[in-house]
Amino acid sequence: MTDNFDYKLDKTDNNELNDICEECKKKDETVTQNLILTGYKLCNSCRTSKTLFPL
Ligand SMILES: [Zn+2]
Repeated sequence: MTDNFDYKLDKTDNNELNDICEECKKKDETVTQNLILTGYKLCNSCRTSKTLFPL
């Protein structure tokens, strides 16, 4: 019974922290860091371009 709950939590974590940048769709370890720091799922290069050219 409790095993199902643990599995569900683990699956949610993997979906959220998959290191895939939402801008360029590339896998980068900085994506998770930026998600925690800024709340955006962006790699460092996409984050830099967003910072240099804010909308
Ligand atoms: Zn990117």
